[in-house]
Formats: sequence, structure tokens, C-alpha cells
Amino acid sequence: FPHITVVGAGLAGSEAALAAARLGVHVTLYEMRPVKMTPAHRSGGFAELVCSNSLGGEGALQSKGLLQAEMRSVGSAVLAGADASRLPAGNALAVERDAFSEHVTRAVRAHPLVTVVGEELPALPDGVAVIATGPLTSEALAADLVRLTGGEQLAFYDAAAPVIAFDSIDMEVAFRAGRYDQSADYINCPMNREQYEAFYTALETARSHTPHDWEKLEFFEGCMPIEEIARRGPDTPRYGPMKPRGLTDPRTGRWPYAVAQLRQEDQEGRMWSLVGFQTGLKWGDQKAVVQLIPGLENAEIVRYGVMHRNTYLNAPRVLNAALQLRADPSKFVAGVLAGTEGYLESAATGWLAGTNAARLALGLEPVVPPQESMLGGLTRYLESANPEGFQPMNVNWALVPELPAPAPGPNGKVRKLGKREKRPVMFRRGLNAFLDWAETAGLQVTRPPLPDPEPALP
Ligand code: FAD
Repeated sequence: FPHITVVGAGLAGSEAALAAARLGVHVTLYEMRPVKMTPAHRSGGFAELVCSNSLGGEGALQSKGLLQAEMRSVGSAVLAGADASRLPAGNALAVERDAFSEHVTRAVRAHPLVTVVGEELPALPDGVAVIATGPLTSEALAADLVRLTGGEQLAFYDAAAPVIAFDSIDMEVAFRAGRYDQSADYINCPMNREQYEAFYTALETARSHTPHDWEKLEFFEGCMPIEEIARRGPDTPRYGPMKPRGLTDPRTGRWPYAVAQLRQEDQEGRMWSLVGFQTGLKWGDQKAVVQLIPGLENAEIVRYGVMHRNTYLNAPRVLNAALQLRADPSKFVAGVLAGTEGYLESAATGWLAGTNAARLALGLEPVVPPQESMLGGLTRYLESANPEGFQPMNVNWALVPELPAPAPGPNGKVRKLGKREKRPVMFRRGLNAFLDWAETAGLQVTRPPLPDPEPALP
């Protein structure tokens, strides 16, 4: 019989096991809880939600909404569990966490092709496998992953800086340049003294997320949070990550008082991260501080900075967009370990890894969803992101291509489309592309209704 192994029955592993079983492949699923617990989980149930009970915003304006629609269309077990246990939460898909976990556990355990083994798997298994052991992967398995991928490629904590959507940066204020006329690879946000002092005061008084005891990290100089750097004195950021030396502002011909630099994160230049701004600030305070930076007043933060314990691979170095390890293509990786962030993203990559592992076991080629779909945008990002300082990514609209610019109006000017106009169009485009792709790949698809009223393409 075609057979695969799945390690971890969290969000990604549960989805992977059922996706593979649906294709007629036998699955052995290893889950170490409750025999061996992680510091964050509290039960032996599968797909346990360790913190919030929300699987993200819903509807055609939301990037998570598109991913939810894609997953529902291919029979996602996690979405079925969420739909069966949902709670009223405005425009978010919130669930009753125990009922949700019970629903997923039952679906996995009841499948005749899935055999559950309640043990820790301390090393990568032989044969085709999906590794979905999450942010708290057991030490023994992490050590074996290091052996296969190299120590440099597995991180044990996040030190993530906010990532900003390019089209929300004011390029009338920010300028492109490299230090001392090196290639102009960075976007620079210049500050005068007054602006820097206002920024510093806000940074110093902003509130940090309180970590659990087991999440507390010892910071190395190279990944010190920006708020910690600021605590060392008003000029410390200005002599550290915000130093202006060698960066001539073309509008003044001078070096500014301080500079916040942004580095390109994706190949297309739709996402830029603030260099040296790793932070554990609460998200509301983080946004307020970032928006005090000249040029970032209207910044759309597509990924907030975080500092916490996490285990994840440097995906662009070790994975391809089908979620296969380059060093051993019989091994697929999904969930947070694969460099994603979030419950829904974990489940979605679990579905793809499970589908592809099953295809490989059946002698078929792995597949990758189209770039216009949210899942395709996410896994292509994992393959092609900037590997320098790679940080896990959640879904957002900057992962999929922009819409073509509308034709110029009678005055010759091109009207900039607002988010409310663009996103339903991107939603339809993405979902249609995903459904066509899934049908061509021979997967079982349920075509959902598309957003109503049908938005006109510009
Ligand atoms: P998990 O769901 O953790 O599943 C991994 C499974 O593998 C676990 O059940 C574990 O017991 C098992 N396992 C590990 N090693 C082995 C082994 N060697 N053998 C057998 N089994 C093993 N995301 C959100 O969207 N919202 C949040 O509010 C949120 N809060 C978070 C809070 C914390 C403290 C952490 C750490 C993460 C949080 N995340 C959150 C991020 C992420 O979405 C979740 O961690 C999510 O559960 C990841 O899914 P996963 O399938 O990758 O891992």
C-alpha cells in the first residue's frame, strides 16, 4: 500500500494526515502529547489552539478570508472543525476551542487509513513523510533536523521586525539609497531632531507583550529588541540601527539626524522590513511607534514584530514551494516549522504538504497552487523570500500579485484603487485560480459561491 508518516497532530499535521488519507494513502501519525507535553499545550487533543481562539478575519476583504475559502473548497478538516464549533465574533472566524479540537481529533482518529501512534518520534522517519512538529518541536527531533539541514538553518526563537507593504510607504519622503553610495537597495526614512525625539519618547513609553516564563529569551547583541536598545539611552538607537552615516537625503543633500531603514523581503518588492527593529511591543503600540517614522505615517504592517520562542526552518534556504526539503525531497515540512505564522497558515500548508506527500507515495509529481491564490502566494514566498534574517510569515495581500493598473482617465491620470475596490477583485481572482488549479490537479473540489455583488475588474 502507498504509505506516508506524519509527525505532529497539531494544526498542520492533522490536516496533512487527512489530506493524504483522502487520496487513498495509508498514514501513520505520531503525536507525543499527552505522554510528553510542550510548555504551551494543555491537552492531548489534536489541533489544540494554544492562545487566541480566532482563525482570522472572514470575507472578501481579508487575506485570511481568501485562504479560508480555498481550504473549504478542498475539504479542509480544520475549516470543517471551525465551522462546526464557531462562536459569534463579528467578522472573525472564532471557535469554541475544546469543541474545535474534539472535532478535528474525531475526524483524524475515525479515518480508516490513519493509524495514530501516541509517541514522540525522536528522529526523521524513513520513507515519505510530513514533519509538522510546530514551534515547540521536541529537542531530539530538532537535533535530527539540524543534522539534515545544517545548524544555521533552524532557529529556536523569533526576533522579528515589522514588515510593511510597499504601497503604503510615502516615497515622497522616504528615499532609496545604500550607505556611502553603495547600491540603492534600501528604503530610508529620514528624521530630523524633533521627529527623532518624538519617536524616541513614544518608543520608550510603549508597552511590551508579557512573555510566559518559558518564553523568556536571553537577547544577544545582534537581535536586541529596539525598545531594549532605546532603554540604554536616547542616543543609543541613533548610534545603532538608526545611524544616518553615509545616507545623503537627496532632498537636503545632507545626512539626516537619524534614519529608519527598510530592507526588501520578497522578490517582487511588495514587502519591506524595518532593519534592526525586532520588537516585542504590543501590536497597537507598535503600530503607533512605526507610524511616527516620516514616510511611514500610513504604513500598513503586514507582519508585526515579535520576540518569542519558536522553532522554524530558514525556508528559502531549505524548502521549495511544494514544501519539500531540498536536502531530501521525500520529506515535506508544514506549519510553523516551515516558516509560516498562524493557525490557518499552519493548517493550509499542512493540507498542501499532506497532498504532495500522498502524491509522491502514489508516484505523482508534487504540485504548487497558483501565485494569485493565497496558499500559492504563501508557499512561493517561503521558497523565494530573502533568506537573510528570514522570519515566519502570515498571509497578507502583499503575497499575491497586484492588479493591473486601471486605464488612465480622461485627464490622463491613473486613479489609485482603494483597498475596498481592489480586494474583492483579488479575492475572486485568487479563488478562481485556486479552484481551476485544484481541479486540474485531480483533487476533489467544492465550488463555493463567489463574493456578491460581482466586482468589476478595472
Ligand atoms: P502545533 O499546532 O504546535 O503542532 C505540533 C504538534 O507536534 C504538537 O501537537 C506537538 O505535541 C507535536 N510534536 C512536537 N514534536 C514531536 C515529536 N518529536 N514527535 C511527535 N509529536 C511531536 N497563532 C495564531 O494564529 N494565533 C495565536 O493566538 C497564536 N498564539 C501562539 C502562542 C504560542 C505560545 C505559540 C508558541 C504559538 C502561537 N501561534 C498562534 C502560532 C501558531 O499558529 C501555532 O503555534 C500553531 O499551533 C502552529 O501549528 P503547527 O501545526 O505548526 O504546530
